Amino acid sequence: MPEGPEIRRAADQLAAAIGHGPLRHVEFHLPALARRAGDLVGRRILSIVPRGKALLTRFDHGLTLYTHNQLYGVWKVARPGERPETTRTLRVALDTDAAALLLYSASDVALLDDAALARHPFLAKLGPDVLDDTTTAVDVEARLATPAFHRRRLGALLLDQGFLAGLGNYLRSEILFDAGLQPERRPCDLDDAERRRLAEACLALPRSSYRTRGRRGGRYGTAFRFRVFGREGEPCVACGMPIERREIGTRRLYACPRCQA
Ligand SMILES: [Zn+2]
Repeated sequence: MPEGPEIRRAADQLAAAIGHGPLRHVEFHLPALARRAGDLVGRRILSIVPRGKALLTRFDHGLTLYTHNQLYGVWKVARPGERPETTRTLRVALDTDAAALLLYSASDVALLDDAALARHPFLAKLGPDVLDDTTTAVDVEARLATPAFHRRRLGALLLDQGFLAGLGNYLRSEILFDAGLQPERRPCDLDDAERRRLAEACLALPRSSYRTRGRRGGRYGTAFRFRVFGREGEPCVACGMPIERREIGTRRLYACPRCQA
């Protein structure tokens, strides 16, 4: 299951492929949108940005294409006008002179103005996005203190997209390790310094992962690496104790028994 940083890198690749040239051809193979394709021909794509697991493709006349892949949807890049052989059902095609973006199998697709976007039921339920530069550690600290979240165990809270959008399972383990916290702790149990450390880790780790995961560490070893996730039995990078694996909320979590004691 891809997490925020991976979803955002995939969106960046779609945006880089399609470029900013005018749309030459648009197809919608969904009944509700069949007649809207003409609204987009000649328009340019300003940005392609994820919100949670939805993708928002923004056009230069103020409309935004909302798509949610759910379990089966997938975006592919092809040459302009090309429609590869596949058993998947084509739902959306956006062609410029640079490339075609093809959405297959997804059915949760809408073309929205800003007001409708703000009211969209899926988007309205999401917390602030950890990869959105306008989200600050102060915002996250304030959110940890609200009644909706402050009695939740961190192991469950960090996977709740209503708390923060863009976190997933590997980030949960890495954030708790970075903050030195057990998953059973709750925001209301933390002192000010712990709450601050947690808030900072909730943003720093996904942002580092987005920018550097999979790259070489460079001279200072600054590329994102798993320090606990997937490292059961291996020595902790900080203290040498074997990393432990547990199941929390049916998903695996890795932690250092000493650094997170
Ligand atoms: Zn340790």
